[in-house]
Amino acid sequence: MPPAATENQPYLSVVIPVFNEEDNLTELHARLSLTLNASPWDWEVVYVDDGSKDTSWELLCRIHTQDPHVRLVRFNRNYGQHMAIFAGFETVRGKVVVTLDADLQNPPEEVPKLVNKLEEGFDVVSGWRQNRHDSVLRKIPTWLVAKMTSRVVGVHLRDYGCMLRAYRIEVVQAMCASQETSSYIPALANLYAASVGEIPVAHAERAAGQSKYSIFKLIKLNFDLMTGFSVLPIQMVSVLGVLIALMGLAFGLFLFVRRLVVGPEVGGVFTLFAILFVFVGLQILVVGLMGEYLGRIYREVRRRPRFVIRETRDPEAGS
Ligand code: UDP
Ligand code: MG
Repeated sequence: MPPAATENQPYLSVVIPVFNEEDNLTELHARLSLTLNASPWDWEVVYVDDGSKDTSWELLCRIHTQDPHVRLVRFNRNYGQHMAIFAGFETVRGKVVVTLDADLQNPPEEVPKLVNKLEEGFDVVSGWRQNRHDSVLRKIPTWLVAKMTSRVVGVHLRDYGCMLRAYRIEVVQAMCASQETSSYIPALANLYAASVGEIPVAHAERAAGQSKYSIFKLIKLNFDLMTGFSVLPIQMVSVLGVLIALMGLAFGLFLFVRRLVVGPEVGGVFTLFAILFVFVGLQILVVGLMGEYLGRIYREVRRRPRFVIRETRDPEAGS
C-alpha cells in the first residue's frame, strides 16, 4: 500500500445492498462499526440503496452525517441485490472488499475472520452458512445452485448463495470490467480468482422484515446463472434430442416388426400419447433455452446501462 494514500484510501471496504431494510440499518451499522473500529484496518462502508420504498434512505443519510466511514449510493429504482453490489464495487477504494447482507443474517462480527483468511493468500474468501436459519424451501434451491455452479464454473463451493464474502480489489475490478448483464457475483468472482478459500460463518434469522426474494426471483436468478456461464445446457439438450430421436427410431422399428409378427392392434395408442407428451415438453424446453440465449444477446447488443444511480454521498463532500 503506498503510504501517502492511506488517508483517503482505506484498506477495507464493506459493500451492503439495502432494499427496504429500515428496521435493521441502525443495529447493523452499530455492530459493524463496533467490530471494525476494534480491528487494525482503515475501513469504509458503502451502502447501496436499491430503490427502497421505506425510510431506509433517510436512515442511511443520518448514519452518513454521523460517521465519516460511510459512503452512500442510491439507485433510481430497484435493480436487485447483485446490481446493487456491482454499484458498490464500482465505488470502493479499499484493497480488500467484503460484501454483507443488510438483514443481519450475516453477522457483521464475522468480517474480520474473512479478511484474515484472505490475508493468508487467497483471492476470494467465501463464507458458508453453518446452521442456516432459513426455510427448507429456501435451502433446496441453494443446494441445487451450489451443485450446478460448482460444475459449470469449475470451482467447488459448499454455498454459492452466501453473500458474506471477501475479495481482493483486483478480482473486483475484473468483475466490473467484464460488464456482464448476468451478474451472479459468486460465480463470476471464481472465474477471476486464482485461489478461493471457504470458511464457515454464523447465520442468524432475519432480524426484521421479510426476505426480498420471491420464488420467481429465485428461479430467474438460477436460470440466469445457468445460461450466463456456459452454453452447456443447450448442448446437453441437443445431445438429449439426438438420443431421443434414436430411441424413437428404434421404437418405430420395434412397432413395425411387432405389426408383422402379431398383426394389427390398437392397445398402444395411449403409450404413444405419453411418448408424445415427453417430446412436446422437451421441445418447449429447447425453445425456452434458445430464447434465453437470444434474449441475452439482445440485451448485450442494446448496451443499456445496467443501473442508474440517482445520487451518491461521500464523506469528503461533507454533504
Ligand atoms: N436486496 C437488494 N435488492 C433486492 C433484494 C434484496 O438490495 O431486490 C438486499 C437486501 O436488502 C439484503 C440482501 O439483498 O441486504 C439479501 O436479501 P434477502 O435477505 O431478502 O435475501 P435472502 O436472505 O432471503 O437470500
Ligand atoms: Mg436474508
